Amino acid sequence: LLAIGGAAGGIAAFLPVVIQAIGSWQRIESLLEHPADVPATVNGAPLDKPLSRLALRDVSFSYTGERLNLNEVSFETAVPRRIALVGPSGSGKSTIINLLSRNYDAINGSIMLNDTDIREVDNQKLRSLMAVVSQDTTLFEESIAYNIRIGRLDATDAEVEQAARAAEIHDFIAGLPNDYDTNVGEGGKLLSGGQRQRIVIARAFLRNPQILLLDEATSALDAEAEAAINETLTRISADRMLFSVTHRLSSCRDMDWICVFKDGKMVETGTHDQLLERGGVYAGMWEKQSEIAIGNAGREVAISIE
Ligand code: ADP
Ligand code: MG
Repeated sequence: LLAIGGAAGGIAAFLPVVIQAIGSWQRIESLLEHPADVPATVNGAPLDKPLSRLALRDVSFSYTGERLNLNEVSFETAVPRRIALVGPSGSGKSTIINLLSRNYDAINGSIMLNDTDIREVDNQKLRSLMAVVSQDTTLFEESIAYNIRIGRLDATDAEVEQAARAAEIHDFIAGLPNDYDTNVGEGGKLLSGGQRQRIVIARAFLRNPQILLLDEATSALDAEAEAAINETLTRISADRMLFSVTHRLSSCRDMDWICVFKDGKMVETGTHDQLLERGGVYAGMWEKQSEIAIGNAGREVAISIE
């Protein structure tokens, strides 16, 4: 590469891009690497029909083998559907996301995509099907454009911008001296937590996945910013499946379905109104959250409760 660089000025000017691209590929490969403790499925089922159904059948899971962190969870849903996962801290919400994205495999039971067990779906296919925005957002010490484009490497600049707009971060980026070329600093330290979250959400939007998995993806945003992103989510999830772990019950109101977790079990499911009617765990959480909100001098605020 260096020899080529020395040979012609035109190519030399182009070279940093090439080197950066090669570096990117290696880093993205390792980013997307299959988790070591899950057997990779190569030449597996291509799942060539569009995803229409997803089911958890008696799914149990344990991280350490000492106790069950998920205990016989069963659930079935069809596309399109927007599902909220709620419950106290440690109740198993992120574990569900981990299993749906196949970071881990269930120790008992199965997860079915259409009629295929998730363990039999080709890894590459599975990856292309999903985007995950997890609690800890990973940003590279690179430009904003780079950090968004990780969602889909062949995206055009216009598509990157469109994703940023959908994640309500374009205006902020456009106001920076180097806009999309601005380096975010180590781990994204030059941005606020909310800005980092929006960039990772833009990355997920760019991927245009059939299943979008959000794990407290908007926890660092204020209620207004979250509501704006929720609007986009409603629009883009019209023909796909969305799972969203959230502490803000106010954002569950317009979800199609809510799954309530407690101690690794799915203890209640239903719509917001159905669950309030039921007067169980969810209704209790809602009451507590409303009390805190009212106590807050009538300002409309979203409170996260544990
Ligand atoms: P939630 O997302 O609802 O807060 P999690 O799904 O993260 O809860 O965790 C469920 C349970 O599994 C908790 O008791 C938690 O301590 C445990 N747990 C989560 N991750 C790990 C891990 N990597 N190793 C061991 N235990 C874990
Ligand atoms: Mg969690």
